[in-house]
Amino acid sequence: PERIVIVGGGPAGQRCALALRRLGHAGAIDLLGDEPTAPYDRTLLSKDALRGEHEPEPVPLASAQAYAEAGVAVHVGVRATGLDADARTVALDNGRALPYDRLVIATGGRPSLPPALRCDGVLTVRTAADVAPLRDALVRARHLVVIGGGFIGGEIASAAVALAAPVTLVEAAEQPLAPVLGGAVAERVTALHRAAGVEVRCGTAVSAVRRERDGFRVDLADGGELRADAVVAGVGMAPAVDWLADSPLTLDDGIVTDEHCRTALTDVLAAGDCARWHNPRYGRSMRIEHWDTAARHGEAAAANALGIDTPFAPLPFFWSEQHGVVVRYAGHAPEWDAVELDGEGPHEWVARYLHDGRLVAACVAGRPRDFAAARRELDQLTKEHAPT
Ligand code: FAD
Repeated sequence: PERIVIVGGGPAGQRCALALRRLGHAGAIDLLGDEPTAPYDRTLLSKDALRGEHEPEPVPLASAQAYAEAGVAVHVGVRATGLDADARTVALDNGRALPYDRLVIATGGRPSLPPALRCDGVLTVRTAADVAPLRDALVRARHLVVIGGGFIGGEIASAAVALAAPVTLVEAAEQPLAPVLGGAVAERVTALHRAAGVEVRCGTAVSAVRRERDGFRVDLADGGELRADAVVAGVGMAPAVDWLADSPLTLDDGIVTDEHCRTALTDVLAAGDCARWHNPRYGRSMRIEHWDTAARHGEAAAANALGIDTPFAPLPFFWSEQHGVVVRYAGHAPEWDAVELDGEGPHEWVARYLHDGRLVAACVAGRPRDFAAARRELDQLTKEHAPT
């Protein structure tokens, strides 16, 4: 292919761009994204950046020189608005139509808010532009409500207590993260929050958020209500694929692809948070919303775009930081029937998830060596199905 266009400047798009050149592509590479800066480390937005541990500018994933040396044209502040599959062009919000020979879509996701949370002033965090207002709220807040006790909600609550903002974390499940990690492990997470000074309200959904003269009122389904001068929601994301609604691509909770990142159009590939692909390691389709998978997905898409046969078969992995404790997870466990939990207290533990007596996932707080061992074991156990 002559010109390869990548839409979306997150880790998937960025890694794809550099990998294309490394793998020998000689033609043009255009990497475009709708944010005002070149690709940066999004995972820091709810961690160091929110705690004010570095300059407000996002931390770039590569230098301008690295893009220049690789001959990657980085276009910032440009949004793709449509795809013309016949003409092989991407319509842009600046009125131009960008031609491609191969297209890689890596548009990631955007925060999704259920109707009950749609209230002017409710904050979310996905992009660097979200950090300043959120940090401002955390610094000023006399009382902050975080809705959603998932990893991002937990990180925001962690940053809040680090900045001495009184914070209540509201979670609809019985414990924060209980649906993902199970009750016994989730209890440790809850204990971690409480030990750090977060008030945790579990087992009740938010039924409405209303703006009041001097802040917000958060109504809970159990009849309770909370007052806050700032409300942040971390309740999930939706793939950023609206711009493809009229295209021939198959959209089903993301852009559907095969194991080679190929969509319904032969010249178009998709990678990262926006893609639902067939993972041969597990023999099933999945969409993952984690950094490491997105970055490696981008590299696999680069290889496949150049015709280098590269099935994408990762062992899913992610990390999070809750109150200074690094929590790491590897594997894929939509279901399990036993959890072996080792370690005392909320700061250090190892949880091994078993299905039919077989290890399917591990979640570890602290203890990096135990995590590395479990990750290796999981890789071995699932590898037989995973082409390298
Ligand atoms: P994204 O990073 O979402 O990048 C997509 C880019 O495309 C964005 O810049 C977007 O604005 C742009 N775009 C969208 N639509 C268009 C369009 N139509 N035209 C042009 N550009 C467009 N994962 C972990 O494993 N560990 C963590 O600790 C962790 N922390 C996180 C903290 C936060 C606050 C967030 C939001 C996510 C975190 N994640 C973490 C998840 C991780 O960041 C994502 O999985 C990863 O960024 C996905 O990469 P991506 O390239 O697929 O998409």
